[in-house]
Amino acid sequence: MNLTCTHYLHCDPEGFTTYSTDGNLEFVRCSNCGLIWRSPESADISREYEEHYFSSKNYLRNRNHKIEKSGWFIDMALQHFPTAGSLLEIGCSVGNTLEAARLRKLSHLGTDVSTYAVEYCRSCGLNAEVKSLESLVEERHPFDIVYMQHVLEHFRDPFLTVRQCYQLLNPGGVLIIIVPNSGYARAEKQRGRHRFYSMKGVGPEHYVYFNYQSLEKVLEKEGFEVVQKNYPFRVKNNPSPSFFLNRIFRKSLRLFGADQEIVVLARKKSA
Ligand SMILES: [Zn+2]
Repeated sequence: MNLTCTHYLHCDPEGFTTYSTDGNLEFVRCSNCGLIWRSPESADISREYEEHYFSSKNYLRNRNHKIEKSGWFIDMALQHFPTAGSLLEIGCSVGNTLEAARLRKLSHLGTDVSTYAVEYCRSCGLNAEVKSLESLVEERHPFDIVYMQHVLEHFRDPFLTVRQCYQLLNPGGVLIIIVPNSGYARAEKQRGRHRFYSMKGVGPEHYVYFNYQSLEKVLEKEGFEVVQKNYPFRVKNNPSPSFFLNRIFRKSLRLFGADQEIVVLARKKSA
């Protein structure tokens, strides 16, 4: 079976096992790199992202909390690149991160495949466009921070996506990635019955699942240096008590394998 990692990381094409099945939807795990892939046979199962998608998932609920949380990630990136002045969000959804960037006086641009999401951002006075990664790369307008929250797992070729992020960053620029955690204990136990891998859940939307180790392999392959995994102990410019409490909460989740998502910051190395 030709998984994407057999091409990029030279993983053994025989070295995969079925990880989960739900009807025709199958995920396989590569024993070399640890990535969990949607099998090529079920790669074409898909779902549309339009208004019903955003409204059905209550994307507009708890907006202030989501803006605050996005701000933490931006503050984490600013620790590694204090002079950063611009942020690109790929998959900007309804603009919570763009709002957090605006509050920090960063110039911002958000892109999304959903016209509904982009129109919503614009109605809030945010800069957003329906635009592909390919055309962004062609425009050669680099950013200091590139942000992808629950987006990378939606791409068939995450290596290519990470490479495009590299091209979109200034030297020393920081890539922020938040993705579901393939090591989340409940998903590992329930497999095809868990929403990560089920037809009713997000299985038909996701092509790949990472843990900290496998995501680091992808990033290093494409020229990044991982500078932060999970939440740091301290964010210099954000002393808020809610950040502190959240950090304790997230660290303890990880101890019990109960962390549903992973957070990685990676810096672009000079070529
Ligand atoms: Zn592999």
